[in-house]
Amino acid sequence: MGGIVDIADYWQGFVRQSPLAVVTDVDGTLLPFAPRPEEALPGPDVVALLRELAQLQGLTVALASGRTHEDLDRLFGHVPRLLLVAEHGGWRRAEGAWQPVDLAPPEALAELARELERITSHQTRALVERKTWSVALHYRRVPPSERLGLLIQADAVVRAWVSGHAGFERLEGVHAFEVRSSRIHKGTAAPWVREHAGAGAHLLALGDDLTDEDLFRALGSADDTILVGRELARSTAARWRMNGPGAALAFLRWIRAVRREGTTPPPPVLPRPVTPLPLARKEAGERFKLLAISNRLPALRTPTEPCEERKRGVGGLVSALEPALTARGGLWLGWSGRALPGAEPGPACLDDDVLPPLAWLDLPGEWVEKSYNGFCNRSLWPLFHSMPERVRFADAEWERYEQVNEVFAAAASNIVDPDTPIWVHDYHLLALGRALRQRGHRGALGLFLHIPFPGVDLFSMIPTAERLLDELLDFDLLGFHTPGYVGNFLQCVGALSPARVGDDVVEHRSRRIRVGAFPIGILPESFQELPELGVAEETAALLQAIGQTRLVIGVDRLDYTKGIPERLRAFGRLLELFPEWRGKVSLVQVSVPSRADIPEYAEQRALVENAVGRINGEFGEAHWVPVRYLYRSYGHGQLAQLYRASDVGYVTPLRDGMNLVAKEYVAAQDPLKPGVLLLSRFAGAAVELKDAVLTNPYHSDGMARDLDRALRMGLEERLDRHGRLLAAVCRTTAVTWAEDFLRALEACR
Ligand code: UDP
Repeated sequence: MGGIVDIADYWQGFVRQSPLAVVTDVDGTLLPFAPRPEEALPGPDVVALLRELAQLQGLTVALASGRTHEDLDRLFGHVPRLLLVAEHGGWRRAEGAWQPVDLAPPEALAELARELERITSHQTRALVERKTWSVALHYRRVPPSERLGLLIQADAVVRAWVSGHAGFERLEGVHAFEVRSSRIHKGTAAPWVREHAGAGAHLLALGDDLTDEDLFRALGSADDTILVGRELARSTAARWRMNGPGAALAFLRWIRAVRREGTTPPPPVLPRPVTPLPLARKEAGERFKLLAISNRLPALRTPTEPCEERKRGVGGLVSALEPALTARGGLWLGWSGRALPGAEPGPACLDDDVLPPLAWLDLPGEWVEKSYNGFCNRSLWPLFHSMPERVRFADAEWERYEQVNEVFAAAASNIVDPDTPIWVHDYHLLALGRALRQRGHRGALGLFLHIPFPGVDLFSMIPTAERLLDELLDFDLLGFHTPGYVGNFLQCVGALSPARVGDDVVEHRSRRIRVGAFPIGILPESFQELPELGVAEETAALLQAIGQTRLVIGVDRLDYTKGIPERLRAFGRLLELFPEWRGKVSLVQVSVPSRADIPEYAEQRALVENAVGRINGEFGEAHWVPVRYLYRSYGHGQLAQLYRASDVGYVTPLRDGMNLVAKEYVAAQDPLKPGVLLLSRFAGAAVELKDAVLTNPYHSDGMARDLDRALRMGLEERLDRHGRLLAAVCRTTAVTWAEDFLRALEACR
């Protein structure tokens, strides 16, 4: 099936077979999505096409949908000979009456539906749909700014409910999810369709969402399967893919022509093979000149997400790496973010329709829990951020961590040839150098750590500290944000390993490992451009609500390393120590939801919300709300506007690898009347941004005084500091970071 001609021949042969049954999903496959299911109606051309196909000799046509049987009846019930399957296989109709499968409807779902209706009661644009064996929540019409809040609430409800009710599962749809009995799925409809199509029938299944995967998996090697839609991000059991309902309909029309008229030209739109990477190995090996590996990827494409939204996920890393990889013919490999139910990782998959091309793996849920939520985020993250009281270790988590590293190494060595340089990112993949070498990788291997590197007293708390360090020394280049972290690393090597330590080099087992500081930066110009009109209006409404008071801004992921409760406490102290600021200054704190399924993060959220409530309760007045707390994420255009409107950028993490918000705040200022950056001395950014007002986030009285000083600072001093800060921000950008690291990596071998 290599070239186009072969693919066309293959399909000419396949669709001529008799008996043949075409089983197709409806929404997203035959019909484009509409905001509400009842608004997605088939046009007369679609109905006519189905009618004609269903009349053809030796061809059976079945619609397999998640919709209710009443719905399918209304839309397609009048089409003769069309087989209908509703509620993911639960209801079926060949001719005559609908037949439900033999499974009593679960009563407990009524309770879940009520809960979901309760949390959506104020949100008229969300829709809770109750079906026989499932409950669905549709949120396509909910404005994006309100979606996250709604989904976080719905998530908590569903999680609690599913954990108390065995035999149910949650399925993600496009702007909808569904909780259903796991015994009802589209795969169960396949034998039923085959039976109606006649002995020896071949099936062709078309579908777009995760519920269609059950159908794909239920088919055999003599059948075929097409994933419809541009969401190439997930691993699929389908063998082919097409772009969307338009392409699917064109393909079905072509099937009609072939079966009516015999020989016809090739189809106007050919399905393309879904290629798991192992198939493409040789070709890929010759193609990709550089491989980047990180835990997460820039959000994989979906049909509805605009580009800007997808880039938000991994921030500066994406803006820096995308152009660097594209320019070098590189590929980016990562975890898809999806947790699989079984015990095996999924096959590596490739999307080479984007630049740079992306490859990804799905991991078993238990591995994600132990490696990502466990060793990465409950051991390494707090320890490397100097918070040993939050650290805990479990052997099983470390073992899974090493296994995840090995799976990435296996995928990488399948994709690129052994001499390709590989750039690995961050604390999730510290053992990857060793795993790659064990698989015979010869090319240069670099690691950049995006978080701090702790001193030896902390590092040696890791039960496998020596081993981890030894694994790190299998890289050729180790990059950190600051000279301080480099120093900590070299100190650890000196104390815990037999390797010889120089200024920027370690000698170990006759190899030289380069160690250096590569401070990451931003794209300053992207915070200096004026945001688009719509964006400007939304932020303007917030600024208007704040009125004439001075503005202090905090922007962080909701993470305990960011010191948000400490920051709020110091703001409260400012109002106590300097009562003249009451009614005259407001704090806007943007907190982006993060790692919400780890209990420490849920606790942190409660702490922050309590602190906001306390300050507003104690100091607030009818015309003045001291703290505005926004638990959501904003695009860079809106952030730039908020930064620029603020008198003080209040960036006070307890510990932070770099902290890009500090740099963004500086870049976004009006150079003629800049605000003041109040920056924690424990952020990596403080090394370069020495002209900020540096503060100690552990000392609320001191921080309150520093805040007072920042608010009172005169224009001359502000201009002076800002000029130097901006020069620093423009000196080391996202681009210089990626280019400097890659140059050093290329020099390694
Ligand atoms: N960010 C965003 N929208 C928000 C809040 C933050 O896009 O509502 C971005 C912010 O612009 C910055 C990144 O998230 O680029 C946070 O990076 P930082 O280094 O400050 O912290 P991290 O989250 O990586 O620890």
